[in-house]
Amino acid sequence: MTCQQQHRYDPEFELLPHDQSQFNGRHKCAGCAYDKGYSLGLLKAPSVNIDFESLPNSQAGTVRHRSVQAAFAKGYLDGVLASY
Ligand SMILES: [Zn+2]
Repeated sequence: MTCQQQHRYDPEFELLPHDQSQFNGRHKCAGCAYDKGYSLGLLKAPSVNIDFESLPNSQAGTVRHRSVQAAFAKGYLDGVLASY
């Protein structure tokens, strides 16, 4: 599964650290990780985890080789802030 969403080209993701580590979700879409974190943040989910398997891959745009953890955490924070 490869991500085809427009968020692949969102310049926001250029702020995320680079991460080439396979174990850290390399090739997974940081944009989708952000969206996932955001929706959990909106719900103020008390327990969160990053399900790498469910994230689509991405080989394109600004999300390529970006830290999936940082994207997820930023999404969670933004979601929590948006819930107030
Ligand atoms: Zn995506």
